[in-house]
Amino acid sequence: MFEVTPATPLTEIRDPLILPFGVKLYVKRLDLNHLHISGNKWYKLKYNIEEMRGQGKDTLLTFGGAFSNHIAATAAAGKELGFKTIGVIRGDEHEQGKRNRTLEFAASCGMQLHFVSREDYRNRSSDEFIAQLKEQLGDFFLVPEGGSNLAGVKGCMEIANEISVPFDYICTACGTGATLAGLVLSLGEKQQAIGFSTLKGGEFLDDEVKSFIEEWHSANGSPVPSNERYNWTISHDYHFGRYAKVTKELEQFITAFESVNNIPLDHVYTGKMMFGLYDMIRTGYFVPGEVVVALHTGGLQGVKSAKNNT
Ligand SMILES: *Cc1c(COP(=O)(O)O)cnc(C)c1O
Repeated sequence: MFEVTPATPLTEIRDPLILPFGVKLYVKRLDLNHLHISGNKWYKLKYNIEEMRGQGKDTLLTFGGAFSNHIAATAAAGKELGFKTIGVIRGDEHEQGKRNRTLEFAASCGMQLHFVSREDYRNRSSDEFIAQLKEQLGDFFLVPEGGSNLAGVKGCMEIANEISVPFDYICTACGTGATLAGLVLSLGEKQQAIGFSTLKGGEFLDDEVKSFIEEWHSANGSPVPSNERYNWTISHDYHFGRYAKVTKELEQFITAFESVNNIPLDHVYTGKMMFGLYDMIRTGYFVPGEVVVALHTGGLQGVKSAKNNT
């Protein structure tokens, strides 16, 4: 399945709220690429799984919060493609009592859940912590949180190629910045990328994206082309207070957007991006006639998990 590029719809948005501003807005429905390995996580896992197999390993260990889209996607990929998965989950309070829908789903796919305290979770990239995990859990191929490493970036470089119209801007929500980096690395000279940070105090994401881009070029022995320093930006204005926080205004926007355009958005990523994008369109950020593509990066499993309120 990872060998085939899914042809997901590109839908033009004809919403009276933005039509008067003359910007052509499309949504690329990456959320429809797979029932469970959905959105950008599909692209991020693709080359990680290939690399794991290349190393002859059959267990993939990764990290995430209790509602993580990446944990759900990794568990589903393991089940579908036949490798073992271990999810190191932030917060040992989830170990006891009722599990939320995301964790229940991951476990039902056969993922081994390993709960750690928030304090330990902060050490997730330290050699010592990883060595300790290996001692406890056996050997594994490690994929960082969000699937965000160079292999993940490489997968995301394929997204823009699947967009069948010429565009001026491409937009994505940002959690770690790996998806945005993949987009930047694959743009044409005149195209631009906009990321929408979902994190409060997410200014560090600018450096993260920059280092992914530099890392990519250094691994490929090429200098960073000058357009890749200037053809992207991250908006920090639409995190709504903090990661995963939902306000009434956001809730209302998402409900209205779905009823007008028939596209569901999630509250953590795509809802905030689209709110921000509408705001930028309406305040004149774009020139009339410009073509903007917004990525629907998925995340709808998290909505269901949150609505069950567990
Ligand atoms: C993980 C995720 C993102 C963030 O992607 P990054 O590459 O970490 O910036 C955006 N949207 C959705 C729906 C996600 O699940």
